[in-house]
Amino acid sequence: MSHPWYHTSRWRKRRARQIVEHPLCAMCEQQGRVTAATIADHVVPHRGDAEKFWNGELQSLCATCHSARKQMQEKHGYSQGCDVDGNPTDDQHPWNRGKK
Ligand SMILES: [Zn+2]
Repeated sequence: MSHPWYHTSRWRKRRARQIVEHPLCAMCEQQGRVTAATIADHVVPHRGDAEKFWNGELQSLCATCHSARKQMQEKHGYSQGCDVDGNPTDDQHPWNRGKK
């Protein structure tokens, strides 16, 4: 199910560096929770694009947030997480499109 790129040592190194540099779950942090991250997630889904996979921005997530985010993305094309102000945290969310 996961892309073969995830099984390369190059990816494992990139993932490990992400977790070392950002040890806390970004989505939990946005909601005021402190949770240890275990997963390096692509902020913009790479969808098989090598450039995005290797050079795209990563965020650290815990397993719970990662699976919630993945389910949302597969269903809607974006996640429905919100920050403390109630704004969607996913740049792909329609509310955030065109802001950047
Ligand atoms: Zn989390």
